[in-house]
Amino acid sequence: MRVSSARPPILFVALCAVLLPGCDSSSDAGGERRSTAPASAVRVVASTNVYGDIVRQVGGDRVAVESIISDPAQDPHSYEASSRNQLALSRARVVVENGGGYDDFIGKMLRAANNTSVDVVNVVQVSGKTAPAGGELNEHVWYDLPTAGRLATRLADALTRADPADGAFFHRNAEAFGGRLASLEAEEARIKADHPGTAVAVTEPVPLYLTEASGLRDMTPADFSAAVEEGTEVPASSMRQMLDLFTGKRVKALVYNQQTTGPQTEKVKKAAVDNGIPVVPVTETLPQGQDYVSWMKANIDALRKALGP
Ligand SMILES: [Zn+2]
Repeated sequence: MRVSSARPPILFVALCAVLLPGCDSSSDAGGERRSTAPASAVRVVASTNVYGDIVRQVGGDRVAVESIISDPAQDPHSYEASSRNQLALSRARVVVENGGGYDDFIGKMLRAANNTSVDVVNVVQVSGKTAPAGGELNEHVWYDLPTAGRLATRLADALTRADPADGAFFHRNAEAFGGRLASLEAEEARIKADHPGTAVAVTEPVPLYLTEASGLRDMTPADFSAAVEEGTEVPASSMRQMLDLFTGKRVKALVYNQQTTGPQTEKVKKAAVDNGIPVVPVTETLPQGQDYVSWMKANIDALRKALGP
């Protein structure tokens, strides 16, 4: 589901933070706690642990990162912010938000926190991606490897402004990160060379930048993935078209977002399994024990395996 525009809990938690510092209760279970960073470390808040990890790759032990969403059981599209998140944002020197309507709670809380010295990095802006003519922007820009590389450079610049003495360190790390991305991009290019234009389907747009870079053709009815993302009912005709992709064996794989699921996506997954079409699971946030590069490598490897030799 997309985050709705009217969200009373934000107002509540903002008041909660001001009036009752200890009243935070339930909704921050996904927050990532740390830190082993020194007191002088640059405080950074990232909306999800995907960006938190990239911050850590660039900032090393010179940053103290807090990721607001890191629980794989949560759907970031419908996340409700907490007072602890608010406090972290009010103290942050650098904030990384996805943008594109994905994590609007960041901007709202920053305005409430009145934090004017913060450097906000908006990854959709960094990506340069825009909505296609007549369509909607695919906001899952972290599945786009060139965007991750540009983000690392942008972060090195932001961290350097906060901590000039470590500027060379930050930029060296960003470059090393970019080098690791280059080998992943080569793997995408190999899939593209081996399986040009191969048809796949997705339950939600999360992996589309990756499948596009791998030269695959997305056959998902637009109304299907839009409804899943919005958390609304899939029109019957779109559901029928979607199921036909599997019964008619017109796609080679289903890329399945495990973090945005429901009866409709389960039905599609079953159709894929029943017809012997491989299901490639993906997530919105970084799985435990992975870093960005190992995670994306696992996604690309799983896709390659599903497509066959
Ligand atoms: Zn999504």
